[in-house]
Amino acid sequence: MAENQNPFNNQSQNNKPKKKLGFYWIYVILIAFFVGSMVFNGSSSIKETTMTELSKMLRDGDVSKIELVNGRTAEIYLNDQGMRKYFPNEKPQTFGTSPNYRLNVSEDRLYTKVDEAQQGMANPVEVIPVERHNWGAEVISWVVPLLLLVVFWIFITRRMSGGAGGMGGGQIFNIGKSKAQLYDQEKDTKTTFKDVAGLEEAKEEVMEIVDFLKNPKKYTRLGGKIPKGVLLVGPPGTGKTLLAKSVAGEANVPFFSISGSDFVEMFVGVGASRVRDLFKQAKEKSPCIIFIDEIDAIGRARGKNIMSGGNDERESTLNQLLTEMDGFGTNSGVIVLAATNRADILDKALMRAGRFDRQIYVELPDLNGRREIFEVHMRGLKLAGDVDKEFLAKQTPGFSGADIANVCNEAALIAARRSKDAIEKQDFLDAIDRIVGGLEKKNSVITPSEKKVIAFHEAGHATTSWMLEHAHPLVKVTIVPRGKALGAAWYLPDERQITTKEQMFHEMVATLGGRAAEQIIFGQISTGALNDLEKVSKQAHAMVMYYGLDETIGNVSYYDSTGQQEYSFQKPFSEKTAEKIDAEVSKIIEKAYQEALRILNEHKEGLTQLAEKLIDKEVIFSDDLVAIFGERPWKTEERNFSRKDENTSIA
Ligand code: ADP
Ligand code: ZN
Repeated sequence: MAENQNPFNNQSQNNKPKKKLGFYWIYVILIAFFVGSMVFNGSSSIKETTMTELSKMLRDGDVSKIELVNGRTAEIYLNDQGMRKYFPNEKPQTFGTSPNYRLNVSEDRLYTKVDEAQQGMANPVEVIPVERHNWGAEVISWVVPLLLLVVFWIFITRRMSGGAGGMGGGQIFNIGKSKAQLYDQEKDTKTTFKDVAGLEEAKEEVMEIVDFLKNPKKYTRLGGKIPKGVLLVGPPGTGKTLLAKSVAGEANVPFFSISGSDFVEMFVGVGASRVRDLFKQAKEKSPCIIFIDEIDAIGRARGKNIMSGGNDERESTLNQLLTEMDGFGTNSGVIVLAATNRADILDKALMRAGRFDRQIYVELPDLNGRREIFEVHMRGLKLAGDVDKEFLAKQTPGFSGADIANVCNEAALIAARRSKDAIEKQDFLDAIDRIVGGLEKKNSVITPSEKKVIAFHEAGHATTSWMLEHAHPLVKVTIVPRGKALGAAWYLPDERQITTKEQMFHEMVATLGGRAAEQIIFGQISTGALNDLEKVSKQAHAMVMYYGLDETIGNVSYYDSTGQQEYSFQKPFSEKTAEKIDAEVSKIIEKAYQEALRILNEHKEGLTQLAEKLIDKEVIFSDDLVAIFGERPWKTEERNFSRKDENTSIA
């Protein structure tokens, strides 16, 4: 999704038609040669004959001349007598100008047979050997296989490089070349900080890099070292690429963009040579910026990888990257920006001083950030008067910058489809709904009884979370099926850095509220709670195994922050502990479930009202909950939203 929005991407597509043309020329040349060869070989009036017939002609004295061409083909010229006998309709002028018969025969046989046939004759016809070059045929016999080879070769190399190298033809030579895309500030549209909404802190940090690039002397004069590498850490679509590009734009330097996965190819050693090439190119263009997206593709921690025996190719690529980064001087003017959404799995060597020793966090935008992103992406749109950015920002909890860019585009498309002159609020709301859960399934088959189950399930979540102090209070619930989700609830979490045991427990109760409501109202449970159960189980496991929040297991954490444990077969605990963990996990979940049942039994009336309202309106907001249950006695700060989809499968 993020890639499609890249306004620079069409650059590589522009190259394609040119390449195609070059390809077709080969066909044209091939056809020309074939036609040419037909013309050269074209003396088609010559008849084929046999040795027996030739012997007869010789005995009768009908032959004037025999030429042996290239020691392979005999060409027979008839004399007047022969012509009258075999070609009575031919005009006499043509006699002797071109051969009348042709015979493929070996040299020896021809000589013997000709001698044999003319034994004892007064003026025997002699065989005259001639060397003749049929240039057309000869060239073709050379060129055609060669051309076929070239065509095949081009085809293969195209296949191999996926046709997306953006480097023109002859790509077999480029296999070890980096596939980095270069954006030149003079030629391409410039991205600046104006295009990046929010991310104030991140911008401030990269501002320094811009300054470095603009006047490096200012820093090196005092002996300061310019950073070589900066790591941008954050979830996808939050604008890491955009930020890197804007740094290049602000500093007015070239920008090389490449994805970590581009280094890794099926051939050994290619990755390392691509890294080398990339840095060579970059140094030529210095000062400049190299942006490596998804650096985890090569930068994953090297280590005891038992399963695969270690990925040598990836490791050698990573080693080459480290070598290059150590190799270039701090004042070379090349700065490497890399993006990842998981800094914790990266090899520690990458983060060492002089490499990616700076980390900038690029988080999902908050309410304010989302409003600003809407502003940026609404710049080019024709909006109706009722579009309120503040309101839209509130409606998009958990959206990334890329999601919002997508909403704006989608809204414009929806408005166009409805033949409007300007994009209205409703178009944006529909676009948001569409992004949230894929395309709205207007005619999806959900029976009224299923709808009732879903409504009670969602109402169960809403009620329990409303009644628990530490659960996230809900802002919106829908039972309109979208994509795979049958229902969804949006909550308003307060931003907390540490979570207490009680908070975790309350969250689990709210998560189990859906299933508990089904149990209470219908006396049976459905498969619709798969997501809920998965979430609760993970949470309970985390409580027991990672956070040390369980009395029986105690203050032990089996969390492995190095990320290497996932490759090992062995659990870091004994079988006995495993049993204990299992028991504790089910105990916690059962306790949460009982608590959910208790709350819902107590507020059964409210639950039913809420569910009926849901069945009726399909969407309810926190106001509806206030109307039924009254205000919550606890206050939560309104700072951020998070989105929780659920019920992804109901059988
Ligand atoms: P990432 O590299 O973090 O996956 P991108 O930088 O590729 O994300 O972002 C994809 C698109 O999302 C951008 O091209 C831009 O249109 C939009 N976008 C993301 N974050 C922002 C932001 N903070 N301000 C404006 N647009 C943004
Ligand atoms: Zn649920």
